[in-house]
Amino acid sequence: MRFPVFSLPNPTMASGSSSLMWFRKGLRIHDNPALEYAARGSDYLYPVFVIDPYYMEPDPNAFSSGSRRAGLNRIRFLLESLVDLDLNLQKLGSRLLVLNGEPSEVLFRCLKEWNIKKLCFEFDTEPYYQALDNKVKYLFIRERVTISSYRNTTAAGIEIFSPVSHTLFNPADIIQKNGGRPPLSYQSFVKLAGEPSWASSPISTELTSLPPVGSVGSCPISEVPTIENLGYEDTEEDDRTPFKGGESEALRRMRESIANKEWVANFEKPKGDPSSLVKPATTVLSPYLKFGCLSSRYFYQCIQEVQRNVKRHTSPPVSLLGQLLWRDFFYTVAFGTPNFDQMKDNRICKQIPWKNDDELLRAWRDARTGFPWIDAIMVQLQTWGWMHHLARHCVACFLTRGDLFVHWEKGRDVFERLLIDSDWSINNANWLWLSCSSFFYQYNRIYSPISFGKKYDPNGNFIRHFLPILKDMPKEYIYEPWTAPLSIQVKAKCIIGKDYPKPVVDHDLASKECKQILYEAYQLNKRLNGKVTEEDLKSLGRKQEEDKKQEQKSKRLKQTLI
Ligand code: FAD
Repeated sequence: MRFPVFSLPNPTMASGSSSLMWFRKGLRIHDNPALEYAARGSDYLYPVFVIDPYYMEPDPNAFSSGSRRAGLNRIRFLLESLVDLDLNLQKLGSRLLVLNGEPSEVLFRCLKEWNIKKLCFEFDTEPYYQALDNKVKYLFIRERVTISSYRNTTAAGIEIFSPVSHTLFNPADIIQKNGGRPPLSYQSFVKLAGEPSWASSPISTELTSLPPVGSVGSCPISEVPTIENLGYEDTEEDDRTPFKGGESEALRRMRESIANKEWVANFEKPKGDPSSLVKPATTVLSPYLKFGCLSSRYFYQCIQEVQRNVKRHTSPPVSLLGQLLWRDFFYTVAFGTPNFDQMKDNRICKQIPWKNDDELLRAWRDARTGFPWIDAIMVQLQTWGWMHHLARHCVACFLTRGDLFVHWEKGRDVFERLLIDSDWSINNANWLWLSCSSFFYQYNRIYSPISFGKKYDPNGNFIRHFLPILKDMPKEYIYEPWTAPLSIQVKAKCIIGKDYPKPVVDHDLASKECKQILYEAYQLNKRLNGKVTEEDLKSLGRKQEEDKKQEQKSKRLKQTLI
């Protein structure tokens, strides 16, 4: 990796009090309590972002361009957000200092070299950041630096200020209110949480200037790198997400959404067209909320303001405000549930004998299932990094409990890498939901990969857009091209099995089998009171295989008798 070198015009020796604002998420100026506190009373302010190889190092073996954990679209979105943050900091007399390396070590070096007295960063509930925070604290202890927290400063040490400002509520408070365990339903969460006091309090004061950056000494500071600086080759325009990163774009987008008061007042999920292309049916603010380019509290207050000024509006869970509460609900459960991101040792997750079928997984991931509705959504994931909520429902259900019976963790990994809004808590929670592993248990309700999309888009425009090979397929066959007579396939220049795959499963049969396995797995979980072992799951899996073989045998026998 080669980084563009950075030089400060007039480096000042930082002899006064210096603070360091460590940006991780929360990539914004507005309503940023950590930044505001870092600036208050400081002679010098060092706004820092560390390029973390854990997320950013190119992985040549990954299934698409990007790092092991993030596809190129999300990396680009982050870099755009950093460029915008830098520009906004410059307007206030500061600028962003980019460093590269293992964040806790990089940070510790800066703290020492710049003689920092105040370290400020937003609290993060994700396990990776929790571990990182512990690493930083461990380095402090190892180096015998006294740490104090907000309003408890000791002269010799470093004061750490790490406020909760990514969510509306502090997940730890909710868990405490609930006797130490997170609430497991949206309704109980809302009841327990009440009106968010922090969210209703005035947002942080608008910053008009920031203290200057002090001398950076010998710390290797750079400009915000480009995709190429990070060692990636840029992709074609067609493969890029249409959504641009950054606080400025987040605020523009949010204002545009809420300017339509009627739309906000009538917002009702899950209504809305998942196949809408020109104007998505929802706000597409998720990537901005994920990186904290938009404050969820500010967004919440803007929605409240609209609601106050209309006669009637929808309510949670279906309203726009209700969507933000879903976000907070999932953050709370994720924070309070050990091993939330896996089936094993996760107390809220049903134990199910998912298949380990890498071929089916790859067909789904690479948009080759032969079901155009599913494949088109997966192409949207690869190219846009964003899909409508119901589209996510369809492909997640298809991969897991609907058709392919592949482990939800595998699908989660694909989403985690490719989504531009990829969010540890929300993504895992929704995969648990969609696979009927937690939160939602009506496994008989399966999204049809054929008729669901047709309801919204009978002509198949969404499919034609993302799967141009099917663009000339008549609308009668666009959702089931394998049923088109060969003459029609020839005319449409798309032979099924050659130009576009045959379906990987028979949906009716596969979904019936999935329901049967889930029925038995639920019985097993009930019987063993959730204490299902790997051996129990293996034996259930073997029984399923046996049953399937028997059924096929008797079917063949019936056919020979006929
Ligand atoms: P809007 O409908 O405009 O909602 C506004 C905001 O509310 C969103 O930006 C988001 O922050 C929040 N929100 C909306 N729906 C949900 C929800 N179901 N759960 C939690 N918060 C919600 N969302 C992510 O942000 N990151 C993910 O990694 C993610 N993974 C998902 C995986 C699966 C399998 C499924 C079914 C859903 C996933 N979602 C995820 C939730 C949801 O689909 C997206 O938040 C939503 O589609 C984003 O579009 P929007 O900003 O236009 O949403």
